[in-house]
Amino acid sequence: MHELSIAMSIIEGASEEALNRGAERVHAVHLKLGALSGVVKDALLFSYDLACQGTPLEGSVLLIEEVPVVVYCNTCEAEKTLHSIQRFCCPSCGTLTPKVVSGKQLELVAIEISEASELAEASL
Ligand SMILES: [Zn+2]
Repeated sequence: MHELSIAMSIIEGASEEALNRGAERVHAVHLKLGALSGVVKDALLFSYDLACQGTPLEGSVLLIEEVPVVVYCNTCEAEKTLHSIQRFCCPSCGTLTPKVVSGKQLELVAIEISEASELAEASL
């Protein structure tokens, strides 16, 4: 399953980041997911829950921000957001717009962690 290996690499990246910051646990992971990334959001969420088990991310949530496809239109000389990925045409003038500016990304944006010191403070 494609999404499982992606989920595992997200968890790996987030665990490393948490370790670098001396965090005990990760509460949430923020991810940007482009409409052209080829990843099915629901499948990724499902895989994430599975792959988190036994890691510092167990019980954390994956928060996915879906990124629309932005193309560059030569006719309008501007970046345009596509309403549908079925047709790569400029929404303003209808010109074919094969130049994709964004929408392919799968990007770890942020993690929410609890640091050991914060936990100690909270228990006072
Ligand atoms: Zn246009």
